[in-house]
Amino acid sequence: MKNFAIAIHGGAGTILRSLMTPEKEAQYTNALQNAIDAGYTILDEGGSSLDAVEAAVMSMENFPLFNAGKGAVFTNKGLHEMDAAIMDGKTLEAGAVSGISSVQNPVHLARIIKEKSGHVMLSGGEAAKFAKKMNLPFQPDEYFYTEERFQQWTAVKDSDTYQLDHSDKTEKGEKKFGTVGAVAIDIKGNLAAATSTGGMTNKRYGRVGDSPIIGAGTYANNNTCAISCTGHGEFFIRAVVAYDISCLMEYKGLTLKAACDYVVKDKLVKMGGEGGLIAIDKDGNIELPFNSEGMYRAWKKEGEETVVKIYE
Ligand code: ASP
Repeated sequence: MKNFAIAIHGGAGTILRSLMTPEKEAQYTNALQNAIDAGYTILDEGGSSLDAVEAAVMSMENFPLFNAGKGAVFTNKGLHEMDAAIMDGKTLEAGAVSGISSVQNPVHLARIIKEKSGHVMLSGGEAAKFAKKMNLPFQPDEYFYTEERFQQWTAVKDSDTYQLDHSDKTEKGEKKFGTVGAVAIDIKGNLAAATSTGGMTNKRYGRVGDSPIIGAGTYANNNTCAISCTGHGEFFIRAVVAYDISCLMEYKGLTLKAACDYVVKDKLVKMGGEGGLIAIDKDGNIELPFNSEGMYRAWKKEGEETVVKIYE
């Protein structure tokens, strides 16, 4: 029997202390705590890491301050097109969805794609048809609407700018990547990872970020680690971040910490890729590196207290 553990993130970025009110900080802290509880309870009852990461991510998708599910950012057309992925480190089976609208919990759809579609990744309207066939819960546009995201979009919608969950105009320089993710190890030593996002404000042309790309924003392998990323997706895709960390461990024998530090604090920085990730290895070690100002994050190891952090 292995010691189980879970780690989650609610996005990285320039989270300015000057703009953080005690009320807002308490809301984020509660949401992170609830997500940890959702996943930890499953692990504590002997459940799988796959169920735990799905439950933790669904909890954050249902919370409007994160850029995933309810509260997802607006596209150039004023829609919500969400991406999500989930991966099982034991079997290397994975499910992912991109550009999905109206489905309440994209990460749950990713799980069903993994288990019932015979494919790894589905996209857009056809993925929605599959979700309908599988009887997944759908929601009207109002469900995903939040005033803050609408204002962020209004500030840039007539320009060519796309934005990573932030608005220079409305928030005086605050820049956040509100994607959510979870990684876990269960008592059997199985690893799993899941990520869910609304992507970038004002995105167009069916833009897809790193979150649903297996090996870029999401990856799990029982031989090495489980990873969920947040940040400027284009860079994370080009650096194949999640798989790169796993490979550094598998082929070069690096520790989780050494591999994470190299990829996030050296390689990505040199490329100009801002963001961070959460990682857990086969021995239950947890790393939560980021090269931005902050990252909403929390973790809990078996029998220990939950740790919640936003800044360095
Ligand atoms: N990585 C996500 C994307 O590029 C954004 C985020 O982390 O908030 O779609």
